[in-house]
Amino acid sequence: MEKPVVLAVDDEPSVLAAVARDLRRHYGADYEVMRAASGAEAMAALRELKLAGRVVALLVVDQRMPQMTGVELLAQALELYPEAKRVLLTAYADTDAAIKAINQVRLDHYLMKPWHPPEELLYPVLDDLLDDWRADFQPVFEGVRVIGHRWSADGHRVRDFLARNLIPYRWLDIEADAEATELRELAGAAAEPLPLVILSDGTALSRPTIAALAERVGLHTRAVSATYDLVVVGTGPAGLAAAVYGASEGLTTLLIEREAPGGQAGTSSRIENYLGFPVGLSGADLARRGVAQARRFGAEILSPMEAVKLDSRDGYHVLTLSDGSSVASQALIVATGVSYRLLDVPGAERLAGAGLFYGAAITEALAVKDQDVFVVGAGNSAGQAALYLARYAKSVTLLVRGRALAESMSKYLIERIEEAGNVAVMAGASIAELHGGESLEEVSILDAATGAVSRVPARAVFVFIGASPRTEWLAGILQLDQQGFILSGPDLERQPNRRPNGWLAEREPFWLETSVPGIFVAGDVRRQSTKRIASAVGEGAMAVTFVHQHLRGPAAAQRPVLAKGP
Ligand SMILES: Cc1cc2nc3c(=O)[nH]c(=O)nc-3n(C[C@H](O)[C@H](O)[C@H](O)COP(=O)(O)OP(=O)(O)OC[C@H]3O[C@@H](n4cnc5c(N)ncnc54)[C@H](O)[C@@H]3O)c2cc1C
Repeated sequence: MEKPVVLAVDDEPSVLAAVARDLRRHYGADYEVMRAASGAEAMAALRELKLAGRVVALLVVDQRMPQMTGVELLAQALELYPEAKRVLLTAYADTDAAIKAINQVRLDHYLMKPWHPPEELLYPVLDDLLDDWRADFQPVFEGVRVIGHRWSADGHRVRDFLARNLIPYRWLDIEADAEATELRELAGAAAEPLPLVILSDGTALSRPTIAALAERVGLHTRAVSATYDLVVVGTGPAGLAAAVYGASEGLTTLLIEREAPGGQAGTSSRIENYLGFPVGLSGADLARRGVAQARRFGAEILSPMEAVKLDSRDGYHVLTLSDGSSVASQALIVATGVSYRLLDVPGAERLAGAGLFYGAAITEALAVKDQDVFVVGAGNSAGQAALYLARYAKSVTLLVRGRALAESMSKYLIERIEEAGNVAVMAGASIAELHGGESLEEVSILDAATGAVSRVPARAVFVFIGASPRTEWLAGILQLDQQGFILSGPDLERQPNRRPNGWLAEREPFWLETSVPGIFVAGDVRRQSTKRIASAVGEGAMAVTFVHQHLRGPAAAQRPVLAKGP
């Protein structure tokens, strides 16, 4: 394949020469750096590239140009190359225009001139953007192929697993794609049940379990050692942050994840309020960066693998994992977050994954192309999903149980929903029943004000109706509240002037420490946590500080030394 293109555009010859030189120096080996001296010249070049079937990875465009401004050029370029990353070069006076362009042309970054030294001001930003571009871009496809029925629950399970674990795959619909039938026959699996997963070496797996698939696509599911300084359960923002700080500060650190790195945040189509990312970033990008950072410092990640049982003895915490193996640690951080609440109406259990989805907006977006879809919920996650799906679906109807969105959704999302031409909000409405054979066909919607039920066609319903912790496996070991959230530090129940109930150490518990010394909690699973990415990250980092204090404490000297081997 020819090299992807990076296009620099500036009307000042000396600036254009400088930016092209800096780009070539750092990216010339992997990208073809091209330049244009005006918006018109850039558009002509992009049209030619499109005709020639070339791929454009990045546009670096000056804002102040005569005839066509940088933002105007990016708006036109978006139609030809929607996946290319977009960077605007600005002077201080153009900052307002740049901030407006974030929404207008989905700007990825604005870069203040001058950008010297490029090693500090230019390359780190562009490296990140090009990494994101590469992660999303799939050239001639050599990876995993999944053949199945568009609306099958098993097919959804496999696709969701691959997508959330950032494993590139190509989906082939057996009903609509002739290549799917051909490949199935070629693999000698014409009679095998679907979904059929064909690996890059040609091996075909018919209806594989997630564990078998994980093993075959090379995910790491066995711990290297039997003991660690720190084990973190859950790789959402809290767990990943804990691993980054733990591993970078010299603790041998193991992360255990039941589904896929990123947690709830990993399912978000666009996170816009996380500090340091003014133009927002997708949950998948945040997860990928967090995983890379944790691994770079030496943290080990087991995924998919569930922690199912916890015992604490002799100052060690022993986790039993879903494959029956166990792992011990001196300190443990529980960062297991919360899971979507399930819709409790007739038809919901049977049609889950077959038209009814929980937080799967990204995986299913292409499947809803030109369809009418419903999103249930009134929180920010429902709003984000509605806007994301609206880019693909013909129409999106947001079903809101309350009277208005303002009660539960951020203002910026409400404004976007009002601006979107194909998103409708139905207030005082909820789903009463789901209907369909193999997959969802219709939904019954209840109008709370009149009590009337209307039955309408629907191919897909996405549900975001809050979430609750899944901590049953910790009941009786850690103090939990009635909903299953974990108590810690000052919240722990205790008799007046006593240490917390069941607490077995000489000292008081640290702020994020649970009722068992050495076991900490961080993020959404903690009682009365803030339910924000930034706070989950903050708590993950903070918990590690307490881990160090615990490991330095007097009990450490009494802990027996355990063998490290597997
Ligand atoms: C769609 C959506 C969009 C959102 N958008 C925003 C936003 O824009 N800004 C914002 O600030 N917040 C947003 N949030 C909220 C934010 O994502 C959460 O507050 C944050 O992810 C909490 O992080 P956490 O690490 O505590 O838990 P989680 O993200 O819930 O991660 C917990 C992880 O633990 C794993 N796990 C659970 N139990 C086990 C077990 N027994 N063994 C192994 N692994 C286990 C889970 O699989 C999961 O991966 C959004 C949430 C959703 C759902």
